[in-house]
Amino acid sequence: METLSIILLCVFIPVTVLLSICLLCIHSYWKRKWKSITKENDIEAKGDIKIGNQSKENVKHTLRFQGRLEDAQRGPSHQDPTFVADEKLGGRKKKQKVEESKLFEFDPPIGNKNLGNTCFFNSSLQALYFTKFFEDALSLLKVSAPNFQNLKLTKSVLELLEKKNVNHTQELRSVLNAVRNINNQFGRGTQEDSYELLNTLLGGILDELQNGDRTCKPIDVDSGVNGISLKNLFTGIFITIYVYDSCNDVEVDFEEFTTLSIPIADNIDQNFKKLPHRGLQTISSEDPRFDIEKGLAVLTQIEDYEESDLPCRVCNIEGTGKAYRRMLVFTPPPVLVIHIDRFKMNDFNRLTKNAQRLKYPRIFNMAKFCSVANTELSTNSLNYELYAVVVHSGALGGGHYYAYVNTTRMHDVEKWQEHLKRSPLDLEKLKSNVEEFLRKRHEFQDDSGQTEVCKVKDSWFYVSDESVCSASVDEVISHKDAYILFYEVH
Ligand SMILES: [Zn+2]
Repeated sequence: METLSIILLCVFIPVTVLLSICLLCIHSYWKRKWKSITKENDIEAKGDIKIGNQSKENVKHTLRFQGRLEDAQRGPSHQDPTFVADEKLGGRKKKQKVEESKLFEFDPPIGNKNLGNTCFFNSSLQALYFTKFFEDALSLLKVSAPNFQNLKLTKSVLELLEKKNVNHTQELRSVLNAVRNINNQFGRGTQEDSYELLNTLLGGILDELQNGDRTCKPIDVDSGVNGISLKNLFTGIFITIYVYDSCNDVEVDFEEFTTLSIPIADNIDQNFKKLPHRGLQTISSEDPRFDIEKGLAVLTQIEDYEESDLPCRVCNIEGTGKAYRRMLVFTPPPVLVIHIDRFKMNDFNRLTKNAQRLKYPRIFNMAKFCSVANTELSTNSLNYELYAVVVHSGALGGGHYYAYVNTTRMHDVEKWQEHLKRSPLDLEKLKSNVEEFLRKRHEFQDDSGQTEVCKVKDSWFYVSDESVCSASVDEVISHKDAYILFYEVH
């Protein structure tokens, strides 16, 4: 019995002690493990908040510039050029709101000092100040073009845009001097043509970018720098289509344009209500309603010739039927500048101003003037919204120029990105494809879509040299002295 007690004691006590130690260890392990899981969860939870905040910040940019959530997850270092342009290089636009992702807002205008009859210059500049991505595209060139310092006009325009206060007279003078280097008629104290100035300024910048200077390589203005092409902002492409009755051949030519000059048209030639060839069709066949649409209709109307006068260059056979020619818009530019040609000859064979009031809408659709040959276009993608007007009041020899600008506009992010980052077209290849498409098109039928117009809250300003005050949209639309209209893709 005594032996049994000893054995029991010897076995039971160590086993109990061992079991207790094991239980303690297991308890302690699980306690530590539990603590660590909780801590990890805490860190993860905090991390979530952090990442969440970052995402929220990025979404803010993304909604403004990208419109896609997956880009937000790339973090703040992703190299979207529009993102970089706005965040790092600044710009006149400033007050975008997250909840209004499709609203594009600029700061109110700052007037330009009159340097001696320079209202023609000041008014066109105001319209450029409020052109989306104009400053951004120049800013990107500054950081990426090796010879930027030698691009006198481009550099001076950017310096003027960067100066965000009224003390910019020196910069204003530099731009005027750079323009005078191209055409010395400007800035001699005489009143000049605002449209001519605009063409010289825009043409001058594009020339500088294309040609560079003698010591440096030209900047690839077509493909753009960091994705935004300054050229793409204003440049559209015309297509001229020739069709021939006898052989049914189709021939096309392409030509670039930066601004459009339209005539004042009282009545439009309706001879071609029924199209002689379906290849000459526009995306929409609606009749023009507003005066500027009538002007564009004149610009894009069908001309007819005898085939003997315009022989087919495809087959070189001189037919006996008719040949038709029509110029249409193939690629509309994101920024559409329309000049109203107000010059007319009077009875004494002297040039005078046609002071007729013209009707132009705030939003209009370009589909009536765009060729079906560009199959990527649809009626819905061709709405244009007015954002600036250069007005000329008074007579031809004198008068005064001023501008209206809208600082708050709609902004379709994806549409603009598509336009600004567009690759240059291979026109030779395009020519043969389009000719083939138009030839075949003659045999098929199709329908055109409907126009969609959106409402926006706008904010118009009247800017006359140094005077700036707010204006109503009613004051701007169909202004009796409108001279240059600035539309942008809606
Ligand atoms: Zn032919």
